[in-house]
Amino acid sequence: MPTTRDQTKDKPNKEIADYILSQKEPPVARFRLLSKGMEPYHRLYILDPDSDVTGDKGCLACGNCIDSCPVLRKDPARFEKTEQRTSFALEACVGEDCEQCYSCVLACPQVDTAYKDYIVDEVVPETIEPAPRITSLDNYFMAIVALILGVVIGIFIAR
Ligand code: SF4
Ligand code: SF4
Repeated sequence: MPTTRDQTKDKPNKEIADYILSQKEPPVARFRLLSKGMEPYHRLYILDPDSDVTGDKGCLACGNCIDSCPVLRKDPARFEKTEQRTSFALEACVGEDCEQCYSCVLACPQVDTAYKDYIVDEVVPETIEPAPRITSLDNYFMAIVALILGVVIGIFIAR
């Protein structure tokens, strides 16, 4: 059994990913099902040495998605709905109050890296406003350019 990834990088289905990300509800379970599931090189404690979990896309109940969700961070009382730490529990506790931050997808060990890369490299940069400091610097730079242009034009007119 291989112990490291031995396949080339997968290509994400961007069309379906965009559709899921556009919905105002926890996306992690659907990204889990879009992914390939357990790989042969993943390390798990399995009682039956003959059991093969390769390709299993089930939730591991690790709770990473729950821990990373800002909605639950801001309102811990929502945890009172259930003691489970699964994607189903996340959906039950957050529902349509999802803020579409995608942290749950990035935190899930059952979601393919290709989808995480797509979200980080192509989706998130489109939704983030430029930092105010950078915008200010841009304005500052343009003010200097305008001042230099004004001086040059003024010199030509004065001749
Ligand atoms: S982590 Fe973000 S995307 Fe996931 S359910 Fe919470 S708010 Fe929604
Ligand atoms: S982060 Fe863990 S608990 Fe959440 S969906 Fe993925 S495997 Fe399940």
